[in-house]
Amino acid sequence: MPFNINFEVCSLFFLIILILFYKSKRKYFGISDRVYGFYLLFAFLDITLDIISVHTISMARSIPLWINYAVNSAYLAMQSFLTAILFIYIASLVRNIKPRIVALLSAPAVISTILALTSPVTHLYFYFDENSRYLQGPGQIFLYINGVFYTVLCIVISLHFRKELGRTLFYTALEITGITIAGLIFQFMFREYLLSGTGIVMALLIIYLNLQNPDQYTDSLTGILNRQTFLIHLTEMQDKHKLCPFLVISLNNFKLVNEVFGVTNGDILLRSVAQYLAGLVRSDSVFRIGGDIFALVLPTDGDSDDLSRKILNRFQTTWSLHDTMNVSLSPRICYLNTKYYHEHTSEILKTIDYAILEAKKSHQDTVYHVDEEAIRLISRKAAIEQALSIALEKQTFEVYYQPIYAAKSNSFTTLEALARLYIPSYGYIPPDEFIQIAEQNGVIIPLGMLIIEEVCRFIRRASLWSYGFQYVEVNLSVIQCMQEDFASNLLLLLKRNEIPPSYINLEITETAAAYSEHLLMKNIEELLDAGITFSMDDYGSGYSTINYLANLPFTYIKLDKAMVWSYFENEDSKIIMGKTVEMLKQLNYKIIAEGVETASQAETLKQMNIDYLQGYYYSKPVPESELLELVHTRNSL
Ligand code: C2E
Ligand code: CA
Ligand code: CA
Repeated sequence: MPFNINFEVCSLFFLIILILFYKSKRKYFGISDRVYGFYLLFAFLDITLDIISVHTISMARSIPLWINYAVNSAYLAMQSFLTAILFIYIASLVRNIKPRIVALLSAPAVISTILALTSPVTHLYFYFDENSRYLQGPGQIFLYINGVFYTVLCIVISLHFRKELGRTLFYTALEITGITIAGLIFQFMFREYLLSGTGIVMALLIIYLNLQNPDQYTDSLTGILNRQTFLIHLTEMQDKHKLCPFLVISLNNFKLVNEVFGVTNGDILLRSVAQYLAGLVRSDSVFRIGGDIFALVLPTDGDSDDLSRKILNRFQTTWSLHDTMNVSLSPRICYLNTKYYHEHTSEILKTIDYAILEAKKSHQDTVYHVDEEAIRLISRKAAIEQALSIALEKQTFEVYYQPIYAAKSNSFTTLEALARLYIPSYGYIPPDEFIQIAEQNGVIIPLGMLIIEEVCRFIRRASLWSYGFQYVEVNLSVIQCMQEDFASNLLLLLKRNEIPPSYINLEITETAAAYSEHLLMKNIEELLDAGITFSMDDYGSGYSTINYLANLPFTYIKLDKAMVWSYFENEDSKIIMGKTVEMLKQLNYKIIAEGVETASQAETLKQMNIDYLQGYYYSKPVPESELLELVHTRNSL
C-alpha cells in the first residue's frame, strides 16, 4: 500500500515555525521548558525520519539495505521515546513527583528504544524480506503497548495531580488525549495517510498555547521576566537544594512619581529601570516582581556587594523622561538568599515583603541583608499573625485597663482600654508591634471590633458606671477610620451589647486624621450624632496638629508622654508645653496628660490646670479584676 505523506510534510513545516518562534521568544528555561524543548526536537527528528523512511522503503530495491535498516530503526526508536516524553513533561510540572519515579516510569520507553535500535539484528520490530519488502516484526505489538501505557499514565497523573496542575493543564491533557483518540480513529479509517506527526504537532501546539507560551513568563510592561517566573525559579532552586542569592530592588518614592508625573510617565521610568537592571545580569535572571519591585538573581559565587554598590551609584543620578525632564528615584535594596528558607515559596514572598518594609526604614545607601536574625523576626511576625487569627476565631481578646484620674473630682472617672497579646513562646507582645502587623494584613478591622466588643462586655459585666466611670477610651487605628461602614458597624455593635454610645470615647492619633480626612469626617459625624466622643491621642508627637484640631470635633486632647516628660527636662520644652496647654484651654479642650510617673509630676500638672492625669503613678494598665479591686480600695479610702 503506498503511503501518503502530505500530512507529515505539512506538519513538519508547522513544527519548524513553532520551534523558531519558541527559540526566539523564550527567555527563561525552567525544567518544564527544557523538557518541552526536547519534545520539539524529538518531534522534529521523528517526523523527518518518518518522511525519509517512506521514501527509502519505496526505493528499497535500488538502495543498499543497511540504509533502510538504519532509517527505520532510528524512526522506531524515536517513536518509542516520544511516547514517554509527554509523560515526562507533565511530571516536570508536578512538584510532588520525584525524579527517581520519573526515571523508573521511563524504563519501558528506554527498553522499547533499545528494541528498535537492535531490530536490524533481532528483526523484532521490523525486517525486510528477500524481496526487500518492509514487514512488521513479531515484537511490534510492544511498541503499541508502550504507546498505550504512556497515554494511560498521562491521564492518570493528570487526574491524580489535578489540583496541583490547575485547570489549564488538566484541560490541556484532556485535549491532547482527545486528539490522540481522534487520530487513532482517523488512522484506522484511512490507513494510507500517515498521521502520527500531525497528532504530535497538534499536541505540541496545544501545549504551547496553553502552557509554554513565552509571553506568560514575561512582564508585558517592561519585557523582563515576571513574578510568576521568579517563583518558578526559586522553587526549582529549592527543589534542587541549590543556593539562590538575589537582590530585591524597590523604588521607594515611586508612588509619588506616579502622582506627580502621571502613570504613563511612571511606566516609562519603570521600563528604563528594568532595561538598566537587565544589562547587569543574564537575561534569565532579572524579574519584575511587583509594581515598583525588581529582583536580580545572582550567580552563587558572584559579589553581591559590588553589584549593589553599582546600582546605588546609578541611582545617584537621575532618570531621563522624554529627554526633557529628569526624575530622581530612590531605591531600597535587600539581599536575600534561599538558604534561610526550607519550605514554601510563600515564605519567601513574605520575607521579601518584610525586607522591603525594613529597608524602607533605613537609609537609601545601605543594603538590607536578610540574615538569620531577620528570619527570626519574620517567624516572630508569623507567630503573631497566627495568634491574632486564633483570637479572632475564638472571638476573645485580652484587654487591660488603665484608670485615668480626674483632677477636679480627685477620682478615677475614665479608663483607657489597651489590648494585650500573650504568646506562650514569646511572652507578652507589645501592642505597638501587633497592632502594626494587624494593620498590615487587614486583621485590624475585625480585631478592632472585637476589642470594642470586649470593652462592652466589661462595662456591662462590671457595671462600670456604678464605680463612677463615665466612659471608656478605646484606641482606633488609621485603617479602621478608613472603613466606609465603620460608624454604622460600631453603632450596631453597641446596640447589640446594650451599651449607650456615650460610654465610649474613641482615641484617634493625628496621623490617622491626616491619612483619612474625608472618610474620617464622615464616620466621626455619624458617631458624634449618636453620642460618642473623641480624643486626639499622642498630641505633640507628630507634626503640626493645629490644622486637624480646627477641622475635627475632638472633646479631649491627650498630650503625648514624650511631651509631658520633656516639660520636666528643659526650659525650652517647658515653654512649648506651657503655651500648648494655654492654647488648648483657650480652645475649650479638656486635656489629658499621659505618662505621669511621679507624685511631683502629678502635682505640677495639676497646677497647670490639666484636667486628667494618666500614668504609672496612678496605675499601670491592669486586667479587669485588678482594676476593680484597685478602684474599690481607692474609693473606700
Ligand atoms: P497609647 O494609646 O499612647 O497608649 C498609652 C501607652 O502608654 C500604653 O502602652 C500604656 O501602657 C503606656 N503608659 C501609660 N502610662 C505610662 C507611664 O506612666 N509611663 C510609661 N512609660 N508608659 C505609660 P501600651 O499598652 O504598650 O500601648 C502602646 C500603644 O499601642 C498605644 O499607645 C496604642 O497606640 C496602641 N494600642 C494599644 N491598644 C490598642 C488598641 O486596642 N487598638 C489600637 N488601635 N491601638 C492600641
Ligand atoms: Ca491611646
Ligand atoms: Ca497616647
